Amino acid sequence: MASSGGVRNGVGPRMSAKPDRQGFSATPKTAAGKQRLSSSAAAAGGAYRRTSSGPLPSRAASDGVSSRVRVAVRLRPRNAEELAADADFGDCVELQPELKRLKLRKNNWESETYEFDEVLTEFSSQKRVYEVVAKPVVESVMEGYNGTVMAYGQTGTGKTFTLGRLGEEDTAARGIMVRAMEDILADITHGTDSVSVSYIQLYMEMIQDLLDPVNDNIAIVEDPRTGDVSLPGATVVEVRDQKSFVDLLRVGEAHRVAANTKLNTESSRSHAILMVNVRRSVKGRTEMDVSISGENGHSSSMMGSLRPPIVRKSKLVVVDLAGSERIDKSGSEGHTLEEAKSINLSLSALGKCINALAESSPHVPVRDSKLTRLLKDSFGGTARTSLVVTIGPSPRHRGETTSTIMFGQRAMKVENMVKLKEEFDYKSLCRRLDIELDKLIAENERQRKYFDDEVERIRAEAQCGIAEAERECKITLENEKMKYHQEYLDSIRIMEEKWKVHQQSPKKQNKEAESTSNNTGEVHNLLQNEKMLRQSAEDEASDLKNQVSHWKKLEATATAEVVKLRKMLDAEASQKEKLEEEIDVLRSQLLQMSMEADETRRSLDKGDGPGKIFPGLDSLVSQTRGLQPREQSNGPKQPIAKLFEQVGLKKILSLLESEEPDVRVHAVKVVANLAAEEANQEKIVEAGGLTSLLTLLRSSEDETIRRVAAGAIANLAMNETNQDLIMDQGGVTLLSMTASDAEDPQTLRMVAGAIANLCGNDKLQTRLRGEGGIKALLGMVRCGHPDVLAQVARGIANFAKCESRAATQGNKVGKSLLIDDGSLPWIVKNANNEAAPIRRHIELALCHLAQHEVNSKDIINEGALWELVRISRDCSREDIRKLAYRTVTSSPTLQAEIRRLGIKM
Ligand code: ADP
Ligand code: MG
Repeated sequence: MASSGGVRNGVGPRMSAKPDRQGFSATPKTAAGKQRLSSSAAAAGGAYRRTSSGPLPSRAASDGVSSRVRVAVRLRPRNAEELAADADFGDCVELQPELKRLKLRKNNWESETYEFDEVLTEFSSQKRVYEVVAKPVVESVMEGYNGTVMAYGQTGTGKTFTLGRLGEEDTAARGIMVRAMEDILADITHGTDSVSVSYIQLYMEMIQDLLDPVNDNIAIVEDPRTGDVSLPGATVVEVRDQKSFVDLLRVGEAHRVAANTKLNTESSRSHAILMVNVRRSVKGRTEMDVSISGENGHSSSMMGSLRPPIVRKSKLVVVDLAGSERIDKSGSEGHTLEEAKSINLSLSALGKCINALAESSPHVPVRDSKLTRLLKDSFGGTARTSLVVTIGPSPRHRGETTSTIMFGQRAMKVENMVKLKEEFDYKSLCRRLDIELDKLIAENERQRKYFDDEVERIRAEAQCGIAEAERECKITLENEKMKYHQEYLDSIRIMEEKWKVHQQSPKKQNKEAESTSNNTGEVHNLLQNEKMLRQSAEDEASDLKNQVSHWKKLEATATAEVVKLRKMLDAEASQKEKLEEEIDVLRSQLLQMSMEADETRRSLDKGDGPGKIFPGLDSLVSQTRGLQPREQSNGPKQPIAKLFEQVGLKKILSLLESEEPDVRVHAVKVVANLAAEEANQEKIVEAGGLTSLLTLLRSSEDETIRRVAAGAIANLAMNETNQDLIMDQGGVTLLSMTASDAEDPQTLRMVAGAIANLCGNDKLQTRLRGEGGIKALLGMVRCGHPDVLAQVARGIANFAKCESRAATQGNKVGKSLLIDDGSLPWIVKNANNEAAPIRRHIELALCHLAQHEVNSKDIINEGALWELVRISRDCSREDIRKLAYRTVTSSPTLQAEIRRLGIKM
């Protein structure tokens, strides 16, 4: 019972408005049965636009069509009691059925007139009542709308008479329920449509199942989506025929709780509700599906089958309300007071709802009672509703009659919005698809069987064919064999005949044959010989072949052996080479160690020969010398002598170029030691040792190597021939380079020693000076080490001596090259050096320089004269003192200067 939004055909108690007569205006007499229903349905179709409320996504669900609740009033004839008791009184109502009016007398002179959709007199037949009140609703239900027929009135006024009479004794007495079902069953299509009923009563707010009384508290369930109410707990019985329906009604009636009241022994205080569910398939759609699921149209059938059929599920609700009279009048006793309250609860709630709907109140108290909840769709909902209000004629019940009439009047103002209850029938689609699927499965199985049978048949046929072919083939072969056998026999026979003929030929022929046979014998023998010869040749050839292959095998084995041996040999050779190298290294190391030991020993035993600048080498030389005549001596140089013999000079020199730095160092030391030995010097130079040493001086980065090499060169430079070679091989330049690069005083001592030796060669003076020998010598004084200075001084002395010797020999000589190269200042500075070796060499050098007159000027200018004078006076060595004195006094220039200075000699 929702608030109705439709247009209100308001009808007031004073005929203020005319209600439309739709539904109630049908004239029942003109038609009956199916024809009547369908015509009426067409009319209804014109009146109600089809709408849908079910889940039909393809169809737009409209809000429905406004349809007012139709209300008829029915007057019961006087009963026996009334006839007796009210005999003197008139009826309290007067009916004007043709005007559809009812006049309610207030008293003898005053009355109220009410208009209804239908006014049914006490003479109205049950059939007429059905047709005007219920039939339009039933037709509507068959169209797919919900419908409600309800009776309201005081107890005993004929509600049950109107709705529930079974009419078993008197057909004409059948009530609305029975007649409605008759019409429904007549209209449905058996097979596709179905009708089912539930029958309940509402008593003291409890819903009881009239078809199963044990079920006495059924819950109302509301669909949260649609708001539809249902009673899933109630028994639902499918109705197939009228008789079973009447039986159901009888069972239900027997179960109704009926309490005796004073008013009527049959009256009930419960509300009885019959619910008829009609389920109909929409025909057009069903027919199409049937036609397309024919035998040869599987695909189209499937396509069609996938579209769900449409189903209409409508419901007819017939409500036989409890009596509407007031409690005090009903004369209830005992717990019936509670009953009456409960009955009144539902009824008063219904009245309130209808009032609210009639007045378009925003709130309709549907939830106040179970009755109003159950009738939610009937008043203000989507159902088409007819109400029949029953009244009695007795003026004693005027009050009740009045209230009943007013209830009917209010109900006439209630608008419903009827909606078609149509939806897709997925269940039936699913069922049909299942059937379809089963059909296909069966068909598939049949076809498979047929296919298998067919395969089996073809296979059997093929086997028969093969057997047949084999048999035929066998026969043919047999025939062929026979034929050839026959031919063979024939040819044998012919041969035999020919042979016989041949045997019987004349003697002449025999002779010829004899000679021929002799010839043949000879030829045969020759042939035999040839054969034998050939056989033996073949045997021989094969024998040779075998031998060849045997030798080949042997050769291959031998070759492999040779290759193997060669490899082993190579490995051995390389191993040997390695070992030799190792031995060389070890030997040189041994040599070095013995040399070092020797040096140590030597250092304990000091000796400084003129021109010998390498004490280790000196000792080596001297000791080797000493050893030579006495081979058995146990001197320390024995290992070197032996080494020299064993290893060979060439090998030692080759080690100077070794990749291994250690080997090079050891080798150069060995060579240096050997070079200290005069006897070895020539061999060393011959074997290219000098060149190798000079190369080392040029190329080696290692200072030790350069130092030792320079020492070796110094020793070699003691020999005049070697001095020339050193000069020729650019030795002075190399020594000068080494002198300018080296920092180590020992290296400088070796280089200075080498140059000093060269300085002692008269023939090389100019070249030596030209190649920077003197400058290099003078450059080395930067070191300041006394050993180096001593060698420098010795070189200068050597050089000066050669120069003076040349001068005394009468060679035309210019100014001293030593003075040209700026040696005088250093000479003057060191002339009185603390170290005796330095001092002596310089004193000699000064004397030599002064002996040559061209040098006198420089000697004076550089202050050397003073030194000469001092030497001539103070020198501890007498020979030098005298030489100085002689020199100074024999030079005119120096004499003149001495005189000028006033020095006394
Ligand atoms: P309610 O159900 O309203 O209490 P009933 O249908 O039981 O009333 O009717 C009470 C009595 O009146 C019954 O005996 C019934 O046969 C009788 N009666 C009711 N209406 C009529 C009618 N229109 N014609 C003849 N008898 C009727
Ligand atoms: Mg009744």
